[in-house]
Amino acid sequence: MKRFHCICGQEVLFEDKECPCCGRSLGFNPDTLEMLVLSRAPHLRVCSLREHSVGCNWLLSHTDKHKQCYSCRLTRTVPAQDIPINVQRWTVLERSKRRLVYSLITLGLPLVGREQDPCSGMVFDFLEDQRTNPLVKKRVVYTGHKNGVITLHAVEADESHRVTAREQLKERYRTVLGHLRHESGHYYWDKLVRDSAWYPRFRNLFGGEENYRESLDCYYAYGAIPQWEKRHISAYASAHPWEDWAETWAHYLHIMDTLETATSFGLIHREAVNPDDFHLLMQEWRQLSRTMNALNRSMGQPDAYPFTLSRQVIVKLRFIHQLVTGSEGM
Ligand SMILES: [Zn+2]
Ligand SMILES: [Zn+2]
Repeated sequence: MKRFHCICGQEVLFEDKECPCCGRSLGFNPDTLEMLVLSRAPHLRVCSLREHSVGCNWLLSHTDKHKQCYSCRLTRTVPAQDIPINVQRWTVLERSKRRLVYSLITLGLPLVGREQDPCSGMVFDFLEDQRTNPLVKKRVVYTGHKNGVITLHAVEADESHRVTAREQLKERYRTVLGHLRHESGHYYWDKLVRDSAWYPRFRNLFGGEENYRESLDCYYAYGAIPQWEKRHISAYASAHPWEDWAETWAHYLHIMDTLETATSFGLIHREAVNPDDFHLLMQEWRQLSRTMNALNRSMGQPDAYPFTLSRQVIVKLRFIHQLVTGSEGM
């Protein structure tokens, strides 16, 4: 992510609605990826969820017919807002979703919503599990993607739930942003890989996509394949080539966004270096992720990036980099 400043010179964060130094109202313009002082941007207006608990700080053009910003209106369903915890959950989910959308815009990925493509445009359903509700027959929510619809079990916004699920599933990392990045991987597989010239290379690297359901059932019954680390970024990635793709995709987004943040904060100096140089990006990432882990350990926190990238995983990441940048990489 870029580094943002108020016109008074104060550094501000992506989520800020107000400068902590001079108090000016701020908003983020997704068209230019800039943080703006509202009084200096009369051609823009605020998202209608700004004063809501969601607290969205994105802006939209005065000529735009919508009330909500580009990110907020990608959401189709939210959990019942008469329950206080769901208000908090929606806020958490939207905050991470804005980071996902920022990444997708920054990487120049095609982002088509439901308005332009009612059948397979991207849309988010944040749903609550209803299995304890006697009024509903059976309603179990699964986080996943289908035909552009990204469903996220709203309880993933609760830290206590994520910690329990992470321990049960023996995961190293579980965040809302991670879920969203993962599911966006399924969306972009449909859009960029399935019917494209990239498909044969996908199959070569990740494997054939037969028996999806059976493979997932097998993973949940018996766990990951032995020595999954050699070929996969996570245990779950070993469940099926589609999950391998989505997991690797999520890591690609983690890496690219975090490298941008590190560069904008001066932790990485990139003078006269080709940013398409994949080999260099990986070198930078190895160094940066070690630094982040060391910093976290100094704070008594778990590692920020508790993963090792095997040679095979790097080949898969390079494939994604080539596909996203349209380059041949290096
Ligand atoms: Zn200021
Ligand atoms: Zn908004």
